[in-house]
Amino acid sequence: MQNPACYNLRVLLYPNDPKLITVNLPRHPLRINVGFLLNAPIGYSRDIHFEYPAIRLEEETYVDFNGVVRVNRTPQGILAVCDFHATAALECVRCLKGFERALHAEFSELYAFNVRSTTESDLILREDGNIDLEPLAREYLLIEVPISPLCRPDCKGLCIECGEDLNLGTCEHNVRVTY
Ligand SMILES: [Zn+2]
Ligand SMILES: [Zn+2]
Repeated sequence: MQNPACYNLRVLLYPNDPKLITVNLPRHPLRINVGFLLNAPIGYSRDIHFEYPAIRLEEETYVDFNGVVRVNRTPQGILAVCDFHATAALECVRCLKGFERALHAEFSELYAFNVRSTTESDLILREDGNIDLEPLAREYLLIEVPISPLCRPDCKGLCIECGEDLNLGTCEHNVRVTY
């Protein structure tokens, strides 16, 4: 069994990366308690900063995670305005090389005081004042991850015959035809 406070993590979005990240990851890295806002005047807000060398959001691991959440007391609930940056380690679908991609997720969501005030996202502020931004951060960061990542737009990929990286040279199967 692993010590739950200390994971030995691979960058999961980049399965062939031998680089292991050993870091203490909090169990709920994006959970904040906004109880202090409940008796604050409407319009009051505070910024909460996050910074993690690595973060795991369910299945995915990102590195260099940082961001700020502005929590605002509104008449309907607590509005969280989030701005997160993270780096995903990806694998090029053409040449299979690993590369990193900076991701940016910006969103805001209302944690309503009651059902009548909920927005489309249907979020209700729990009685203990805890809000966990993890599911939202995960969703918004995943949108930023390309489905078919390319190390560069013109990546030439690998030769299907011999596996030669065609970004680095040509092989007998890929001789340039010259007229
Ligand atoms: Zn590539
Ligand atoms: Zn070849």
